[in-house]
Order: sequence, then structure tokens, then C-alpha cells
Amino acid sequence: MIYICSMDKKVRVRFAPSPTGGLHLGGVRTVLFNYLFAKKHGGDFILRIEDTDQSRFVPGAEEYIFNTLAWCGLTPDESPVHGGPHAPYRQSERKATYKQYAEQLVNAGHAYYAFDTPEELDQMRVQYKTEENPSPQYNHVLRAKMRNSLTLSADEVAALLAAGTPHVVRIKMPLDETVTFTDMIRGEVSFHTSQVDDKVLLKADGMPTYHLAVVVDDYLMKISHAFRGEEWLPSAPVHILLWQYLGWSAEMPQWAHLPLILKPDGNGKLSKRDGDRLGFPVFAMDWTDPKTGEKTIGFKERGFLSEAFVNLLALLGWNDGTDQEIFTMEELIRAFSMDRVHKGGAKFNYEKALWYNQEWIKRAAPEQLVDQVAETLAGAGVEGFVAGESAASAGVDRELLLRVIQLVKERCTLLADFVPQAAFFFATPAAFDTASIQPKWNDQKNMFFIELAKAYESSVVWEAHDLEKTLKEIAAAQDLKPGELMLPLRIMLVGGKFGPGVFDIAEIIGKQATIDRIRKVLSILEHN
Ligand code: GLU
Repeated sequence: MIYICSMDKKVRVRFAPSPTGGLHLGGVRTVLFNYLFAKKHGGDFILRIEDTDQSRFVPGAEEYIFNTLAWCGLTPDESPVHGGPHAPYRQSERKATYKQYAEQLVNAGHAYYAFDTPEELDQMRVQYKTEENPSPQYNHVLRAKMRNSLTLSADEVAALLAAGTPHVVRIKMPLDETVTFTDMIRGEVSFHTSQVDDKVLLKADGMPTYHLAVVVDDYLMKISHAFRGEEWLPSAPVHILLWQYLGWSAEMPQWAHLPLILKPDGNGKLSKRDGDRLGFPVFAMDWTDPKTGEKTIGFKERGFLSEAFVNLLALLGWNDGTDQEIFTMEELIRAFSMDRVHKGGAKFNYEKALWYNQEWIKRAAPEQLVDQVAETLAGAGVEGFVAGESAASAGVDRELLLRVIQLVKERCTLLADFVPQAAFFFATPAAFDTASIQPKWNDQKNMFFIELAKAYESSVVWEAHDLEKTLKEIAAAQDLKPGELMLPLRIMLVGGKFGPGVFDIAEIIGKQATIDRIRKVLSILEHN
């Protein structure tokens, strides 16, 4: 059987997460590909919360998903928060919708009631376990040995139902059929039905399982394309049969199963544990497990710009066929196409991720960075910066901060790098690397800096160019090479051997701070 979906309907895609924890970067990439496809085709991007498995409910996880999407600029057109014509968008609030479809399937002979207790299911797994079949499944063979509406008489079934006996509804997988569909990334994919077990569709508490709910909601919400992670490929035959059995084949979405994001070293899916092991984030934003209190760092808090995060995710398993690597969201929307998504998994490379961030910081106008930098400096406790307040409302001159950002951004890979690179513009360094000055220090240099401080004190114009000129004149008069004086001066102003041009720094921190810092280091050197 080959099922092909009609292409003439409006593009409507969905991201359908189960809110069970932090959002893995693979999950955000799934959102992104959905979003780009929707925007490219003038369609709708729907966020649906798949929370029918109440045992996996994690407080805060749904809010986290919304915060992550907001941070990335991937705003849904319809969602539990944004509303929409197909509300509610939270499956737990749609419980009443699903039962009728489960019954329709039972009545048509494509599903059945199963009354087996958890103990009986455990027993089945032990009893039928063999070397060839170490984990027996409830399938076309074993269902004949279990307590269900296929093995019990109609009267027995009616009596059990009337007595309110707990039961589930299972799909009746055909014995010998091949289910074939066209995946937009993988091409034709086939499954033999004998390989797939009789999945539960409706649970004893009346809640649908994911399998039933995803099909019913994709149908009711008029989803045209269903893009999801490769881990859902084995479920596709169940879903495709459900579309057929419910009589909706003509409306079935086109499928694309996105390749996995792989570990940088070795094989297999990149996991949170790999990130912990190798020291990089895997989640989009910080996530604190409400049960254990364990905190997992996110890309945002590690100091990534959302533009860089989105850009690097897009290029994990996709490219536009050229060498272009830096894309804005608008460019991605224009360039994106599903047929350029690779079939194979994409190895995650953190060094490359850092490169994207560095490029984005380099290219950003200071104005685009100023609030995030102010927040980062506040987080690091830099004098004058207050968390939650923009640079304008904190005690800092916004113009000054913009100038500093322009001067140092080329040196920053992560937002956190603005702390060492920018803090000394606003506060006297807490420590000075005098150990790097000492080996070549002598009385002549000491005299020189005493002179320099004096000359700076009486200077009328305070501009980088003049400050450099003054230094060179005094050096020449004392027969010193300016080159030998740059390192000590830098350490005096910055605290260490880094930072932009030393006279630019002096100009920005101003006359008093420059002189104070020179004299402070001279006194440290004197006492050593
Ligand atoms: N609820 C599934 C998940 O958590 C969604 C799979 C799908 O998109 O069909 O990934």
C-alpha cells in the first residue's frame, strides 16, 4: 500500500512535545525546521502539548518550552498560550475527543478491548520469553493467548464492560501487510505489519496514548506536514494504519523524520550525559529537574546569542547547497527546503557551535548586544550593573557601554567573555598581573611611569592619539623604546595581558582612573 498525501492544502505544521524536561537541541531543531517550512510556504506553525501520559508530567516543563521558543524567536501561530481555532492545544484537555475514535476502530474490527491485568502482562512476558524472543510483545501471535475481545465471547466481553472492568483498547495489527509511505527526507519507507506490536490506543483511565492522540489531533487540526525526530519512525506504520482505518487517508500529512544529532565522539544520539561528560550544553536553556534539583546548563546561559543558536541548529543536517554558513532567520526562511536535509545523522561539534556564536557577536551592532552584555556583567557582579535592569536604568552610561562593546566584541566568543574583556572599563581590576612586569622592571621604567602619570595629570585633551604621543615623547627623552612600555601600561590599566588598544582603554576609562591605576601598580611594584 502506498499512501500519498494531497499537496494542495494549506501548509500547517506542528511541534508536539511531551513536556517531560529540558528541551534537547534536537528538539529545538525540530521546532526550527517546522517553523522555517511553515513561514516559507505562508503556512501556520502550531505548538501542541502532548501530555496524555500523566505519569511523566513534570512541573515547569511546559513553561520551559514556551520560554525556549520565545528566546529563539520561533513564535507559534497557534498554541495553548497563543490560542487558535482548534483549541484546546493541550491533549490532556481534549480527553473527551479521543474515546469515540477508539470505539469507531473497535467497531470496525481494527482495534479490540484488552482486559489483561498488569500481573497477567508480566506473566506473559515471562511465560513466552525464549532465547530468540527475549522480550515477547503483545502482537498478532500472543494476542490469541490473552484476555481480550478477540479471544473472549461477545457475552463475556459485554459482562466485563458492564461491570466496569479496567481495560485498554489496542490496535489489531494486520498479520501480513506491508505499509509503505513516502518520507520527504528518506523517500519510500516500508514496514511489515508482523514486526509491529498491538499498541495500546486508549488507556484504562480513558486517556489516549500518544499513538491515537497524535493521529486524531493531526487530523482535527488539519496538519499538512508532520516533521518529527527519527526516533518516531518505528511508530509511523501504526499511525499510517490509523489514518487509513479512521477513513482519513486522503487527509494524511506528508511525513519527514529528521535525522538524529549525534555525539561528537563515537556513535549514537547526542545525550545530555555526553554534554556533561564533554563540558558543553545540550539543552536550549538552563533546566532544573524539580525532583532531584539537578541543574543542567543551557546554551542561553552559557552565553550563546539566540541568533547563533538558531543558525547553528539549522546547519546541523541541512545546507542550502552553497558554502554559506551564516544565515539570519529571514535568510533561512527563504533558503530552507526539506529535500536538502541529510538522511544521515549530523555529528555535533561544539567548537563549530562556538565559531557561530563568535561570528554573530562580531557581526552584531553594539545596540543589539547591549542589554545582554549589561545582564551578563550584572550576573558577574561588576560594579554599577544591576541584574534585571538595562544598562540605561542601571548606574552605567549606556553610550559608554556601547563604545566598550564595539571595542571588545571581536575578542568575545561567548557573552561571558565580555566579563573579563569589559569589566575593567567600569571598575578597577581586582588584581594586577605584576608578575609579568617584574622580570624587565627597573628604576628607569619606574621613573618613566612617574613622569607619565604627571604628564597625563596636566594634559588638557584626553584622546587616545594624544596619550600615545605623550608617552612616545617622554620615552624618547628618557631613551626608552615605547615597545617596552606597552606591556606594563596595559597591565596597569587592564590588570592582565589582554584587551583592545591600550590608549583606547585609557581614553575610555578617563584621566583619573588612568592615573590612579598607574600609581597603584607602581606602588605594588615598589613593595614587592
Ligand atoms: N509527543 C511526541 C514527542 O514528544 C511527538 C512526536 C510527533 O511529533 O509525532 O516527541
